Amino acid sequence: MSGGDTVNLLIQVSYYAAAFLFIMGLKRMSSPVTAASGIKWAGIGMLVATLITFAYPDMHNYALMTTAIFIGGVLAWWTGKRVAMTDMPQMIALYNGMGGGAAGAISGVELLGGGEHSLVFMVLAVLGGVIGSISFSGSMIAFGKLQGLIRKDFRFKGQNILNVTILAVIAVLGMVVIGGDGNPNTIALFFALALVLGVTMTLPIGGADMPVVISLYNALTGLAVAFEGFVLENAAMIIAGTVVGSAGTLLTQLMAKAMNRSLANVLFSGFGDSEGGTTEVSGSMKPIEATDVGVMMAFAQKVIIVPGYGMAVAQAQHKVWELSRLLIDRGVDVKFAIHPVAGRMPGHMNVLLAEAGVPYDRIYDADEINAEFETTDVALVIGANDVVNPVARTDKSSPIYGMPILDADKAHNCIVIKRGQGAGFSGIENALFFLDNTRMLYGDGQAMASELISAVKEM
Ligand code: NDP
Repeated sequence: MSGGDTVNLLIQVSYYAAAFLFIMGLKRMSSPVTAASGIKWAGIGMLVATLITFAYPDMHNYALMTTAIFIGGVLAWWTGKRVAMTDMPQMIALYNGMGGGAAGAISGVELLGGGEHSLVFMVLAVLGGVIGSISFSGSMIAFGKLQGLIRKDFRFKGQNILNVTILAVIAVLGMVVIGGDGNPNTIALFFALALVLGVTMTLPIGGADMPVVISLYNALTGLAVAFEGFVLENAAMIIAGTVVGSAGTLLTQLMAKAMNRSLANVLFSGFGDSEGGTTEVSGSMKPIEATDVGVMMAFAQKVIIVPGYGMAVAQAQHKVWELSRLLIDRGVDVKFAIHPVAGRMPGHMNVLLAEAGVPYDRIYDADEINAEFETTDVALVIGANDVVNPVARTDKSSPIYGMPILDADKAHNCIVIKRGQGAGFSGIENALFFLDNTRMLYGDGQAMASELISAVKEM
């Protein structure tokens, strides 16, 4: 075997090893017990795939490569360390957009480079280019919305017609490029329109739908990377891109289902539109003191805790678990109910509870636990709002109508911890807060959990 063959073999083996590490990492991420190590497996895979690039015989620009890896590595390390858990969705949007942009850039370089290529090469380069570019600009808009940089939804009549028109022009240009038109202006226009489409598709979508959209763009980025993997004959890119594409598609479907929305509904209509969200709620909110809640919980047989976004904001998970342990020691049956879209990213609550050390056998999904609320003495809702709003069951005009919720309203007593009258993500009133069996414990999630701990300890 010649030296060149050996290097080539080493490169291919490294790519398959990297792909194996990605898949094993992803598999380990499916359980909270092994998730942290799964991230490390996948990270090592990425390191292998990056380092082996230096072994390519025709790769000479080491200074540029090292500088790029250094800048990217430092920025990722710094932002990863600093990001708050509640800002994770925008972080994912940003990184995901970069992946799409990189795939688009590879396509651009290959198409502008000219030369004779097979039809399959041209089709995949063009498809990867358009999908990657849409994913890039769309993810950037999603980032801007979640970060609060873009506050408006920019909906206008005929937006769907505009998008379809742009898509049609992109399709025509794409065919011209595939046909062998190497004209840089045609190629530039093709990419520019793909970037514009990402923007016009995403601008009208409401903030509450952004995480679903990010997940969709994640899937698209994976697809674009896989296509560009074929173009570059890079096995790691093909496998990793396909894995990301399918995982992203499954996640998108799961999230849309958990919100009872179709993907078309997410993309082409508005969540929290002004015509929705005007549900009339009668009655009044009745406040309660922590000492009274402490007594109620200490003498309860069964307590279900429903965490939501506010628990993440308050970082109350450790106190909540400390409170639970006190109750468990007194013989109370304590369970945690998690809604699939509680918080601001899939698995948000699971991550926080795992961080606090809550055993997994105390954590239940909505469909596993909903039937138990009727026999529960106290449902303790901490920082959750939309995911326990009963109008989702009853009010057809509500923007969250049809979303499966946690049935906290069916418990004998429902205690809601929140700071004041703040609405949930959807911006609508919550009928739960006005029910006869609901009492409001006003205050920051962590402070109130501490007061409950003191109250239970004093008994
Ligand atoms: P919500 O966003 O509906 O409500 C959170 C509540 O927490 C607010 O009403 C707020 O009230 C309260 N809160 C905020 N800070 C604190 C604090 N420090 N202490 C105590 N309470 C606090 O949260 P949910 O988890 O119920 O619902 C998630 C929403 O996000 C859903 O609408 C879902 O569709 C949406 N979403 C989630 C996704 C996901 O992947 N998880 C994806 C897409 C959308 P106050 O200001 O009065 O304290």
